[in-house]
Parts: sequence; structure tokens; C-alpha cells
Amino acid sequence: MLAMVLDAPREPLQLRQLPEPTAGRGQVLLRVAACGVCRTDLHVVDGELDQPKLPLIIGHQIVGRVLSAGRSVERFELGQRVGVPWLGWTDGSCRFCRRGLENLCLNARFTGYQIDGGYAEYAVVDERFCFPLPDDYSDQQVAPLLCAGLIGYRSLLMAGDAPRLGLYGFGSSAHIITQVARHRGQEVFAFTSPGDSETQRFALDLGATWAGDSSTLPPEQLDAAIIFAPVGALVPMALRALAPGGVVVCAGIHMSDIPSFPYELLWQERQVRSVANLTRRDGQELLALAPKVPVQTQVQSYPLESANQALEDLRHGRFRGSAVIGLNPQ
Ligand SMILES: [Zn+2]
Ligand SMILES: [Zn+2]
Repeated sequence: MLAMVLDAPREPLQLRQLPEPTAGRGQVLLRVAACGVCRTDLHVVDGELDQPKLPLIIGHQIVGRVLSAGRSVERFELGQRVGVPWLGWTDGSCRFCRRGLENLCLNARFTGYQIDGGYAEYAVVDERFCFPLPDDYSDQQVAPLLCAGLIGYRSLLMAGDAPRLGLYGFGSSAHIITQVARHRGQEVFAFTSPGDSETQRFALDLGATWAGDSSTLPPEQLDAAIIFAPVGALVPMALRALAPGGVVVCAGIHMSDIPSFPYELLWQERQVRSVANLTRRDGQELLALAPKVPVQTQVQSYPLESANQALEDLRHGRFRGSAVIGLNPQ
């Protein structure tokens, strides 16, 4: 099979011919149809997440069809379309798994990080961590729901029922979560890098009440803010925009250092917290909810061999919405 392979951090992915993998017990072999591009992929390639298997096939928003099944596979039929998220395996027995916090599993393994992912024509995955996908979406349009959507959704839950919600960094996650938040009756305030009027217009088109530069204060105090951009300096900025009792949710897996700030910004029961990974329950809930909203994803498509270009375009904010690698055209 053809795959884009990471040999070492800070090197470009290499297009390579590899043997087709085979499904072991409890696993399915997928013919990959699409794989979403996530900022976490950039953190892995850049060496900011420093425990990848190497060489590695990155990509953890996989849409594929079951081509063959290993022993004891029960959930999926041959030919069925499934989605594969970042959470690729848990032990099911540690003290976090036993409390329903499998996102914090002490021995978790992640797709496209410790397990080969979806920047390839085929992928082998544990069926227990796959989702059936709603028929309402094409392969490429459903892919961004599997991480941008899922992590955004978990962040939205952690932000509570805030009537006024701020989103800092308006990329793949924010464009999905704006639609979900509007559906829940929340007002959305979108913050972009200074002067990015094109993305601000995009946010307003998706239903945001207000869009502006992240360095400015919104016209009204926010009840919660989700930070999607990996920029620690946004934490005190978001706190400054927050009403008493509000929460700042850091949604990214990696963030630059947070500058010190006066206690006054945290006073009055404001909170700062992070969101880590996902649970399968988050996935089931979002994939059931998305067609009802209905969430529509805006997708920029790249062929497999252009994966490095997709990552660079993401780094420099050269598209609106989500980048997706399209494979194996039907
Ligand atoms: Zn566990
Ligand atoms: Zn991701």
C-alpha cells in the first residue's frame, strides 16, 4: 500500500510503498477513504508530542470501509463504513477506565501516534474504538467530525451551558462547534488572529454573533471560552473576557507556555481547565447529534501525496474549515 511515513520528527513525511497490514484478533482492516488533518498531526511531526512510534503513519480522523476482519470481530460487517478517532486502545482496567474516564487511561494508545493511522491506503484498527458513521455525510465531510468535532464537543460539554461562548482560534474544531453551540441556543463570539477578516467573516456566516481579533475584548462578557489555538498567551486574554463564574477550556493537546497573570483575572470563581482526548461516549453523542443540527463541514481536499502541503497549509492558516486527505476514490 501507499503511505505517507514519518521517519523522524521535524522531517517531511515520505511517500512509501509498504506491505498491506493484516487484522489481528478484534481488529478490522480498513480501506481508507478519507483522513482528516488535525493540528495534533503537526505537533507529532514537529516533535512537540515526543513519544511516537517510529516510523509512523500519522492521521487519526479515519473514514474507511471494512475489507477484512480478524478473529472475534463482532461489531462490523464487511463493507461497512466506520470512523476511527484519536483514542485507539485502552486497558479498560486502570483506575481511570473503571471510573468512565477512559480518555485519561494510564496505558492508552493513540491512533496516528502509537498506532499507525490513516495517511495510507489501508489501516488496521481495534473494532471497539471505531464508530459507525451517519449516512448523511460523504467520506470527506464526515472525517473532521472524528477529532475536530469530537474534541470540540467534549470542550463544549466542559464549558457547560454558557449562554455566551467565546472560541479562540477559528479552525476545524471551531467551525463545527459554532454550529453545535448555536443549535443548543448559545451565542458564539469568534476570536481570530489579528486582522484575519476572512476567517471572521466565515465565523459570522456560520452564525457567530460577533467576530474579532483575539487581542480585543468582546462587546459583552463571556460565560465560557474554549481555546483551540495552541497559544498560551490566549489564556489570560480569555480570562479577561470572562464574566464571574466563567471557565476557560484549553482544548489542544499542546500549548505554548502560559504567561503569568494577576490573581484578579481568576478571582470570582473563574476557572481554567484542559480537555484531554475523548471517550467513546463523546463520539456516540456527537455522531448522533451532528446530522440533527445539521453540522456541515467545510473541507479542503488533498491527495495522499500532498499530505505535507496540507500540514503546511494548516500551519499557516491557508484554508477555512478542515483539511482532509482523500484516498481510494470510489
Ligand atoms: Zn485504563
Ligand atoms: Zn486531532
